[in-house]
Amino acid sequence: MIRRTKIICTIGPATRDPETFRRLVDAGMDAVRVNFSHSSHEDARRAIELAREVAQDVGRPIAVLADLQGPKIRVGELPEPVAIEKGTEYAFEALHDADAGTTDGAIPITYPDLASALEPGDRLMFDDGRIAFGVEKVEGSRVTARARTHGVLLSRKGLNLPGKALQVPSLTEKDRADLAFALEHGVDYIALSFVRRAADLAELRDLVDDSTLIIAKIEKEQAVRNLVEIVSLADGVMVARGDLGVELDFEEVPIVQKRVLRLSQESVSIGITATQMLESMTSSSRPTRAEVSDVANALLDGTDAVMLSGETAVGEYPVEAVEAMDRVARRIEGEAGFLEDPSDMGPPLVRTGVHRTVPGAIAGAAVEATQRLGAPFLITLTTGGYTARLVAAQRPGVPILAVTDNPRTYRQLALAWGVVPILHDEPIGYESMLARARTYAFEHGLAEPGRECVVTAGMPFHEPGTTNYMRVEKL
Ligand code: PEP
Repeated sequence: MIRRTKIICTIGPATRDPETFRRLVDAGMDAVRVNFSHSSHEDARRAIELAREVAQDVGRPIAVLADLQGPKIRVGELPEPVAIEKGTEYAFEALHDADAGTTDGAIPITYPDLASALEPGDRLMFDDGRIAFGVEKVEGSRVTARARTHGVLLSRKGLNLPGKALQVPSLTEKDRADLAFALEHGVDYIALSFVRRAADLAELRDLVDDSTLIIAKIEKEQAVRNLVEIVSLADGVMVARGDLGVELDFEEVPIVQKRVLRLSQESVSIGITATQMLESMTSSSRPTRAEVSDVANALLDGTDAVMLSGETAVGEYPVEAVEAMDRVARRIEGEAGFLEDPSDMGPPLVRTGVHRTVPGAIAGAAVEATQRLGAPFLITLTTGGYTARLVAAQRPGVPILAVTDNPRTYRQLALAWGVVPILHDEPIGYESMLARARTYAFEHGLAEPGRECVVTAGMPFHEPGTTNYMRVEKL
């Protein structure tokens, strides 16, 4: 059985060696995430090279997603870790230069407008919310806050100011340098952290070519408020539950997850569920039952892909974590009803927006015809990948064989739900691409000659977003 849900692994010290990387691919990794919050350019180059080499070796694409850190606020450099005592007051000062050390005994923070953003009663949440403070006083540039938890504060730990609309650029200098590096190395997706509104994405869009797909990470309350405009502009959306669960009360996360995933499917945007999916597997060879249930429920919410972070970047059981995700996904997808009619098992699919345009109607008709004919798969002929993603958003019960002449589209489609990317390395043309799909299907035992199968495409080829063609072919 072909797994429909895709698996993304964050590459880090635990998985950067060729042997472990290869084992991740064999276990079912479809895409790698290079997290520029923690990766040097040398680390990133290594991960990208490995992805390209191993993909070539195994004959299937591995997409590369470059995740830009965005305007993350952090603790500056501390001379030594600070032991935080619950109930004690601490002083915080904004730093204009993150490496300038502490300011007059206060804990340095890399957000120049810290004091003007805060008022008594506000919260400071460090290290994913593990260390929390309530603001008591703001005097000039100094913020005094009382600890609500114990803990040890280290240099560079992240800080969230829940509910605050921050005056920060959507792309920092570091992001611009990381982006230039990522583009130079031909990554397939760029993820932007701390997106607040569609304009943040538009700024990034101006810096990349049209074939670079952009993922908006949803982790701010502001982003949740502007969800519809963000999702409609992004090529993909990530429910970044780590920061999201600190910026918002954690009990809001499941509701936001369902909304984001529903909207992403309606807008033909790739939906990714991320963070702490199998967190315990960082140090344990088996997931908890709650984690298994979380992965399963993300599928039932309609996610296209599930993502591993620390589990594969620094964990002790990275390969086992991918195997666990693969097992859960296959079990859920194998459950009667899940593929036949996902709306029976998850939230009902609402067909609005693009699904009511000509491309949406053609894709819907192709799916409907496939079901009525009992065809074993659906074929899309695509240059930029849109036709395949559009069909995928309609959730056909059968795999989507997507033939493309474009190596970048081939890699990008590794992340699209239910899509089996097939590279056509001859001149583009209907008959030759169909022949490529036919050969692939026979070689992989997906159908016997004589079976009927629906082909859909946008014609003329090379004009993006023009899904307008459907035909039933005999294999
Ligand atoms: C998250 O916050 O859940 C996330 C995916 O982003 P990062 O790992 O960059 O914090």
